[in-house]
Amino acid sequence: MFGLIGHLTNLEHARSVAQDLGYDAFAAEGLDFWCSAPPQTIDNITVTSITGQTIEGRYVESCFLPEMLAARRIKAATRKIINAMAHAQKIGLDITALGGFSSIIFENFNLNQIKRIRNITLDFQRFTTGNTHTAYIICRQVEQASQKLGIELSKATVAVVGATGDIGSAVCRWLNTRTDVSELLLVARDRARLQALQDELGRGKVMALEEALPQADIVVWVASLPQGLQIDAKTLKQPCLLIDGGYPKNLDNQVDRPESVYVLKGGIVEHSLDIDWRIMKIVNMDVPARQMFACFAESMLLEFEKWHTNFSWGRNQISVEKMELIGDVSIKHGFKPLLSFVRG
Ligand code: NDP
Repeated sequence: MFGLIGHLTNLEHARSVAQDLGYDAFAAEGLDFWCSAPPQTIDNITVTSITGQTIEGRYVESCFLPEMLAARRIKAATRKIINAMAHAQKIGLDITALGGFSSIIFENFNLNQIKRIRNITLDFQRFTTGNTHTAYIICRQVEQASQKLGIELSKATVAVVGATGDIGSAVCRWLNTRTDVSELLLVARDRARLQALQDELGRGKVMALEEALPQADIVVWVASLPQGLQIDAKTLKQPCLLIDGGYPKNLDNQVDRPESVYVLKGGIVEHSLDIDWRIMKIVNMDVPARQMFACFAESMLLEFEKWHTNFSWGRNQISVEKMELIGDVSIKHGFKPLLSFVRG
């Protein structure tokens, strides 16, 4: 059985979801309450592949909220993730994706040091970040959406914001070796990591965000920002393709943008068959029966293939070969990259 560990985008969102699901006690409470709330299994999921195979899974809500990081409630944030993992293991999930900030918190706070939670010894082989499939889907979105817009990659400048991250570095590796993209702009804050990435790629220009954005035909946004960000969309090239891969979404609710700035929700896949579940409605997916985060789909793919192993793990180790491997099974089971632009 597969699992998905997720979280909601902010306190307001969490309260309204709790109300809708009948958890009235949760709906009235503030951040303190969410800091002490235990993980909950809130969805039983059945997914059918286009091969005809059917699998079962569970969605586990960790009760983590991005405000916990902003309020420096780090202990609470880390407890949420590790408790959700212990819960997933306790209910017998064989392979579970750590969605959104779950894997970022796991890595940034070295949670691999914590092996025992009450009477459960965590087996990290049962978890995956889902980042290999996410990076693969974002790369396919770059290739397919640019073609749709008539942006030729061989003449295009692509800025990767969050280039040194787990997903960002994988996207850079793919664009560098599997496409003929003209120029890569590498954006993040830590100069040493940017330098190391540039050395690894043997190309790419390290740039500040304000300098990179006006030069880019395509922007891939995979920076780990816990909240949205306003950029001046009028300074962007026209046309410009903006692929917002963050969760919570960083850019896609920008209302004030020229018509030829096209925004695509990055790292989102569409399944070929409907799934009867609540969670994608809760996170406001446009077509909740079919669309989902690519990291969640990775857990499903590993279950379909019975690859019960931490396929995506650690940081900055995603190879192009592994992206191709997960990409092949993604196609085999009927998942496609989302290609419909966000309406302005
Ligand atoms: P990482 O923590 O590995 O990388 C984050 C990157 O963002 C780093 O390069 C970091 O570098 C950079 N960054 C952080 N803050 C800023 C800033 N203020 N300005 C510029 N760069 C910044 O994260 P992941 O690669 O694991 O995840 C990236 C995003 O993708 C997250 O929003 C995550 O929630 C989302 N995600 C989406 C999935 C999906 O299925 N659609 C699946 C998994 C994750 P530095 O610190 O040096 O600035």
